[in-house]
Amino acid sequence: MPRALTKPVELETIVSLAKRRGFVFQSSEIYGGLGSVWDYGPLGVEMKRNVKDAWWRAMVRERDDIVGLDAAILMDPRVWVASGHVAGFTDPLVECDKCHRRYRADHVHGKVCPECGGTLGEPRQFNLMFKTFMGPVEDDAARIYLRPETAQGIFVNYENVQGTTRRKLPFGIAQIGKSFRNEITPGNFIFRTREFEQMEMEYFCQPDQADTWFEHWIDFSLGFFKRFGIRADNLRTRVHADNERPHYARAAADVEYRFSFGWSELETINNRTDYDLANHSKHSGKDLQYFDEEKKEKYLPYVIEPAMGADRTMLAMLADAYDEEPGEKESRVLLRLHPDIAPIAVAILPLSRNDRLLPTARRVHELVRPNFNSQFDDTQSIGRRYRRQDEIGTPLCVTVDFDTVEKDQAVTIRDRDTMEQVRVPIEGLVAALRDRLDEIRRRSAS
Ligand code: ATP
Repeated sequence: MPRALTKPVELETIVSLAKRRGFVFQSSEIYGGLGSVWDYGPLGVEMKRNVKDAWWRAMVRERDDIVGLDAAILMDPRVWVASGHVAGFTDPLVECDKCHRRYRADHVHGKVCPECGGTLGEPRQFNLMFKTFMGPVEDDAARIYLRPETAQGIFVNYENVQGTTRRKLPFGIAQIGKSFRNEITPGNFIFRTREFEQMEMEYFCQPDQADTWFEHWIDFSLGFFKRFGIRADNLRTRVHADNERPHYARAAADVEYRFSFGWSELETINNRTDYDLANHSKHSGKDLQYFDEEKKEKYLPYVIEPAMGADRTMLAMLADAYDEEPGEKESRVLLRLHPDIAPIAVAILPLSRNDRLLPTARRVHELVRPNFNSQFDDTQSIGRRYRRQDEIGTPLCVTVDFDTVEKDQAVTIRDRDTMEQVRVPIEGLVAALRDRLDEIRRRSAS
């Protein structure tokens, strides 16, 4: 679909739409807001859930080689020693000698404070894990961490899952859940926050197959973003240089999106080798080797990991879908979201709040509701309601008017992108909506 807007939408535009329409609010706003922590409102929770469902479907339900897991956020603290996070999950922190603002050393250029021009001191390593205590005693023995990645929950359950599902290599374990990082410089709205959701999959394979699977998972990831509406022109992959790879990875590549603030990471694909399983074997004393029945040998599988952020993906999808079409009086703002991602798929709009229309409109809603995520809206004028639905990305609106009840038992379906309207009998409405959503799905994929 050709867009009216030709350059990346400014972040402030998305932030203000998100607030105005109830996608995202600042955490604890009535207390002035907790910095860089966000709450998802009625539409945001629907959309983020759709993002996660789309990933789960593509990753787990549509494949034979991947199963799911939902591990706890709190884990034995020795896990984070074994994984290397206690020693190595750090960012270099620099502090300004004048205003005492703190920055991530790799996010600033040179030794000059970007805010006040003061001098930045020598970098020191700052561990990003949130610490807390378990049980009533607050001493070192009770110290635990909020997980900084979901992956370790998968590694420590590797044997449980492999044993209960009797999987042979290669196979993967997928998980969606919250992670926490005490980021030095969070920002850019929901792009970098201290509490966020990850969608991670650890793919266990024979060591000599790891490079092939690494390529596979890069292609898969790009395919996922394109399938659910992000334009190919706004995506690219970037292989990490030797000095930027995480401590556990032998090879890493990012999938990046062209935001208004520059190309930025949505996902990393890592070749974690046998780093995690080897360390957990060593620290737990449990032999995590795999017995290869064909080769008649034991070895530690290699792991390829696509790790994606749900919040970042949602931000990229919002930014990519945003469009403004110039109009005679005012421009039309719309989100060209993929139908599987849009918070509402179908809106039911009685032409007016007239007693002759409402019972039929309600009946139409009851017909549609079991099939699509739908919303009934009878406030304001029909023009304003169309604009509101456009702005929240609803692909289809169904209008019930006086002809519906007095003449033809038919309703009008309006397409968000083309604004085309077609009249269809109520009897065939669900099938017609399904066809139209399919068409928009095809149109949204790139
Ligand atoms: P960055 O370089 O941006 O700090 P990272 O390389 O440390 O990110 P990974 O550890 O590879 O991130 O995590 C995988 C994914 O989790 C990222 O691609 C991103 O989508 C998401 N993610 C990581 N940190 C954050 C955060 N602070 N806020 C939101 N999402 C995050």
